[in-house]
Amino acid sequence: MPDDTEVSKVLVVAAHPDDVDFGLAGTVARWTEAGIEVVYCIVTNGEAGGSDSSVSRADMVVLRQAEQVAAAKCVGVSDVRFLGYPDGRVEASLALRRDIARVIRQVRPDRVACQSPERYYARMPASHPDHRAAGSAALDAVYPDARNPFAFPELADESLEPWIVRQVWISGSPQPDHFVDVTDTFERKVAALRAHESQTGQMTNLEEMLRGWLSRNATIGGLPDGRLAEAFLVLELS
Ligand SMILES: [Zn+2]
Repeated sequence: MPDDTEVSKVLVVAAHPDDVDFGLAGTVARWTEAGIEVVYCIVTNGEAGGSDSSVSRADMVVLRQAEQVAAAKCVGVSDVRFLGYPDGRVEASLALRRDIARVIRQVRPDRVACQSPERYYARMPASHPDHRAAGSAALDAVYPDARNPFAFPELADESLEPWIVRQVWISGSPQPDHFVDVTDTFERKVAALRAHESQTGQMTNLEEMLRGWLSRNATIGGLPDGRLAEAFLVLELS
């Protein structure tokens, strides 16, 4: 099982503002409580989110960035970087791989968390096309782009040294093999999700919905009754 004591820095890559919070904010809160530094890299600004057509998409960019920064604070994260790719049209392009590899080389994390590139038939929202594309690009950026000194020579021109990420945690995987007990950080996860007011403001059953998902994860992971868990597929890289 992955050991947090050997980890000092984690980079979380996600497609949209709020993805981190739905997927792993409870786990992020545990990491930061343990003294691990966590950085977010959000691929889009989420301007295709929400249903309020009275808000201009330019205003939505500003709003969703601010909401993500506020949500990050709820779980102890103060470094949030936005790549500005168009929401709803993310592809696992060479440009996106390079941009994520750049952030990996800047941050130099021991562990990267990202979304699953696999389609999860039982949970379609988890496998939104942007999530799959961002997950695929993040995995390619971890291996081989960030560690290969000859990948994307422009990064070397920016004086960014190759960096080897040792571990990847994939959220939204159809085959999770690691379950983090987030019962004690659940309130912080809910607060982070509430910070995404434009997305969750109308969800009167948010907490109940989350308890349902997270207690199902806990059951699958073999945790005691009444516990809540976030689920991951963990990859060890050498
Ligand atoms: Zn999303």
